[in-house]
Amino acid sequence: MRLQIKNIRIVDPSQKKDSVGDIFAENGRIVSKLSSSADKVIDGKNKIAVPGLIDVHSHLREPGQEGKETIKTGTRAAAKGGITSVLCMPNTKPAIDNAPTVEFILLKAQKEGIVNVFPVGCVTKSSAGEELSEIGVLKKAGIVAVSDDGSPVSNSQIMRRALEYTKMFKLPVISHSEDKELSKSGVMNESKNSMILGLRGIPKQAEEVMVARDIMLAELTGGYLHIAHVSTAGSVELVRQAKKKGIKVTAETCPHYFTLTDDVVRVYDANTKMNPPLREIKDVEAVKVGLADGTIDCIATDHAPHTAEEKNKEFDLAPFGIIGFETLLSLVLNELVDKKVLSLSGAIEKMTHNPALIFNLEGRGTLKEGAIADITIIDPKYSYEFTKESILSKSKNSPFIGRKFQGGAAITIVNGKIVYTAIRD
Ligand SMILES: [Zn+2]
Ligand SMILES: [Zn+2]
Repeated sequence: MRLQIKNIRIVDPSQKKDSVGDIFAENGRIVSKLSSSADKVIDGKNKIAVPGLIDVHSHLREPGQEGKETIKTGTRAAAKGGITSVLCMPNTKPAIDNAPTVEFILLKAQKEGIVNVFPVGCVTKSSAGEELSEIGVLKKAGIVAVSDDGSPVSNSQIMRRALEYTKMFKLPVISHSEDKELSKSGVMNESKNSMILGLRGIPKQAEEVMVARDIMLAELTGGYLHIAHVSTAGSVELVRQAKKKGIKVTAETCPHYFTLTDDVVRVYDANTKMNPPLREIKDVEAVKVGLADGTIDCIATDHAPHTAEEKNKEFDLAPFGIIGFETLLSLVLNELVDKKVLSLSGAIEKMTHNPALIFNLEGRGTLKEGAIADITIIDPKYSYEFTKESILSKSKNSPFIGRKFQGGAAITIVNGKIVYTAIRD
């Protein structure tokens, strides 16, 4: 397959490039020119080409919870959102703590998936927090990081060992930073709103004490620490100070943490229930500052599908989590780029080049010659309302249903093949 994208604005932060030109792909790679005429020519007028977006935090639910999402449906939703690679968290059933499960996911992704899937392995066996998983074996099978996302590693000694041990394999340890004793039975941010609503609160410190602990352990061990879904001003500041000290720590946030506050919980809609919970305006502002000054390296979705049946339970009983693949790019464009928090290049960097560097995704996150031809073509003029009917994900648990956006993915290309084209009229 020889592909030519003609006359397009190319924004590639890995090369500090922002200029109009052509992109060529042949045999799944970016090339400077084609060996013979193109099989497919895409007109790039009024569009923007960027490296394929990499989402470093998602839950594909397969194996084990196929009623919520599968590799097939999840990767289609990702492609629609302009995402060409996803890291999937290990809290599947069985958990990703053994090589056959990693192999199963990779095989399924190859057969039924349309974007690249990179499994994250468990830090501890069954994410039970007691015994390190066989990280070397998992790495050989194909994981790109370890995490007990959802069940934080509460034992500091085990977290220390994980950070020490993974250094050998250059595998980041992704920390879901939560002190379960502090957050215990909480369902939303602890604030004026939780008092008014009569819902049990989760203090910001439940996140921050673990961010602080893990930074200290990263300093002690020299391990690679990546903080997942930063949601509070205090966490941003801890990461900022740690980076200043030269500690190897990186961090991600999610669109909901720079877009929404816990005011939206007031309607008792379980689609506003996620973990960590939505915080307050000063946290939202601090997350934006953290994105702008480089403290926060990545923007990830924490795509967490749950069925309508589960989310329709009362707020207290509904599970935490929202879907995010299909709104990631539009939220970044509208909330960060249009509002001048980040330049377009700065925003794209956090979903391409930075993730590729942190998780050692060779040949991805860039449009350099020789790179894998994962490309996202953005239509900045596309305006639409995000409706439930349009959702490709198997679950529809999004707080952004009904929101109007401008700008989204027009074409998604994975390994030189077009996997998604927006149908619009
Ligand atoms: Zn988490
Ligand atoms: Zn998660």
